[in-house]
Amino acid sequence: MARIDIAGLTKSYAGKNAARAVDAIDLAIADGEVMALVGPSGCGKTTTLQLLAGFLKPDAGTITVGDREVSSAKHVVPPERRRMSLIFQSYAVWPHMTVFDNVAYGLRVMKLSRSEVEDRTREVLRSVRMTDLAQRYPSELSGGQQQRVALARAVVVKPETLLLDEPLSNLDANLREEMRFEIRRIHEATGITMVYVTHDQTEAMVAADRIALMRAGKIAQVGTAHDIYEKPASAFVATFVGGTNTLPVTLVEPHIVEFGGARLRVRDDFAATARGPVTLCIRPHAIAIAEVNGDTAVGYRENGTNRIAGTVLRQTYLGDARDYLIDLGGTQIRVAAPPSVDRTVGSTIHLDVPVEACRIVPD
Ligand code: ATP
Repeated sequence: MARIDIAGLTKSYAGKNAARAVDAIDLAIADGEVMALVGPSGCGKTTTLQLLAGFLKPDAGTITVGDREVSSAKHVVPPERRRMSLIFQSYAVWPHMTVFDNVAYGLRVMKLSRSEVEDRTREVLRSVRMTDLAQRYPSELSGGQQQRVALARAVVVKPETLLLDEPLSNLDANLREEMRFEIRRIHEATGITMVYVTHDQTEAMVAADRIALMRAGKIAQVGTAHDIYEKPASAFVATFVGGTNTLPVTLVEPHIVEFGGARLRVRDDFAATARGPVTLCIRPHAIAIAEVNGDTAVGYRENGTNRIAGTVLRQTYLGDARDYLIDLGGTQIRVAAPPSVDRTVGSTIHLDVPVEACRIVPD
């Protein structure tokens, strides 16, 4: 079976002062799971995938697939003996072969009978909805169709694991959206364990069962899309997934922080133990621009919201929302307001934030 266990995996590239591209990461991927590796450019996603594929040798740590150790500093099982298929952002289909022959190639190499090659190829082409285009050449296909051929070619050989590196980044936005669901559907039909590298958080949320968010060679957090969005472990995670405002605040008592002289109430278990400087995370769409009617008191209010005051620095009409940049005495935050809420630049406004939307993370 294709459970993957990564333990203490470390890799530096040669070169003076080279930092660790992958820095002692641990990650367990269940059999049949889709794990997305997500994170900003240079955080080590591709290096991790290449270690998984067997193209690179780790400096330390191990990769185990099922009960077989496939990578360590001493020994690396070569890519062709790993029962892994790979898909990269370039479609890597052979231009001189028809769609059918591209997909059948891997089965012919395995010396399967002619009828088995035919049957399996047709079945996979059906699953990627390419049956009608089986006799076309890649140059006669759109980018999305070529990527479907690459997918079909990767899964037809029934690999234990499928590794995907930014597979959709060459496609236009509409096609990318459609293909995310397509990859999910193919996973449901095949049950292949997948490791999916992307810098696009929405792609990861749609295609993957769990997300490993990487930063500077380390894993910042692993969890379902829901976990990571709702319970970010750090300001980095909250900012990278979904976007958030971060405010420097001081935790003064459990669930109470001070910001600019006002006492605000926050959610979070973390609040019960720590004291001192922490970061308050508030998503832009969770903030409402208040109608104050003369009630300008700031701080926690008995109706379960926190009120803060600020000045409008900028506002942009975006059709379905108005994007505000607000100054809170030196800290700037973004507010996504309904388009009908129109406040002029320079005016003082009051913002209401439900306690449920105020989450603190370690400073
Ligand atoms: P991106 O999203 O930009 O593709 P990534 O998260 O996939 O980035 P990696 O390609 O794994 O990141 O790179 C991790 C670090 O290792 C980076 O600092 C990068 O500059 C460095 N690096 C990657 N490949 C090499 C190489 N062949 N030689 C030297 N350094 C490298």
